Amino acid sequence: MAQTTARLLDGQSVAAAIRESVLPEVHAFSARTGRPPGLGIVLVGDDPASEIYVRNKVRAGTESGLRVDLNRLPASASLDELLALVARLNASPVHDGILVQAPLPSAMGRGASQRVFDTIDPIKDVDGFHPVNVGKLVQGRAHLVACTPSGVIEMLQRSDIPIAGSRAVVIGRSEIVGKPMAMLLLQRDATVTICHSKTPDLAKTAAAADILVAAIGRAGFVTAEFVKPGATVIDVGINRVTDRAVADRLFPPGAARLADFDRRGSIVVGDVHPGVSDVAGALTPVPGGVGPLTIAMLLKNTVTAAQAAHP
Ligand code: NDP
Repeated sequence: MAQTTARLLDGQSVAAAIRESVLPEVHAFSARTGRPPGLGIVLVGDDPASEIYVRNKVRAGTESGLRVDLNRLPASASLDELLALVARLNASPVHDGILVQAPLPSAMGRGASQRVFDTIDPIKDVDGFHPVNVGKLVQGRAHLVACTPSGVIEMLQRSDIPIAGSRAVVIGRSEIVGKPMAMLLLQRDATVTICHSKTPDLAKTAAAADILVAAIGRAGFVTAEFVKPGATVIDVGINRVTDRAVADRLFPPGAARLADFDRRGSIVVGDVHPGVSDVAGALTPVPGGVGPLTIAMLLKNTVTAAQAAHP
């Protein structure tokens, strides 16, 4: 078969369109209630990647006219201190949404994230991780849905990629990406297969997909053999590569990304091998694909939460 190059699905422009659609709603809410929709972000510790994510969220929210307050706790903070901060934000009259940046310091213990999700008022749960919001999603009456998978749906819809009647394969079954992603595709009438680390014949299963979503956390894991020619491939992965040998396995000699690596000492890549662009019909780049959508959906969810709390 003749080699093709996949259409690149530009997350930046889709995210910009979502953010633009949110602006009039922010203005209308502010005019009606006398204050902007408010988002309280909690950052525990000083994980460098989390610092960048949070900075981007604060900037994007502020640019869209939201009130965004960053609440920091030291890495030494106890889970009780964190839960007390969440309780204060639950009671705050100016915060409509609450986001606790993951991951939490491991010293907080294994079940800490779930305790935090359980404590956030479901009305303010702009990450969509509270059991009430997860349950509503499963029942097809979602209110606040996890930002990354709902951003993927926006990307597919705004790129005119048909979901209904398609075969969709999601690799990854995490609570924050894989599972809600599968539910959202199912509700839009895709026939969905969820794969994980124990799935046999993974490449063969994936290669049946019209829409393949990779949410694994392994650099370049999805190679061309996983992909049906012409399929849409959504790369959720964000992996920092610090080993030049790994970068060499992903990019051909002379590639611009290798020059990036040499300049910075690391690069961020997805779960999908760049060679997939010779097989796929459409592909999200990393960076610049799903990442910007996650932030845009966070802003949208904050406005949705504000409107629901102040009908
Ligand atoms: P998790 O580690 O929570 O889940 C990874 C999933 O991948 C698990 O279900 C795991 O299976 C599966 N998996 C791991 N190895 C394999 C394998 N060899 N074969 C098949 N399946 C495998 O990760 P997340 O869902 O939180 O994140 C996934 C990726 O997406 C990461 O790179 C993360 O950084 C990125 N991400 C990007 C976001 C964005 O805004 N673009 C937002 C959130 C995450 P099992 O359950 O069996 O262990």
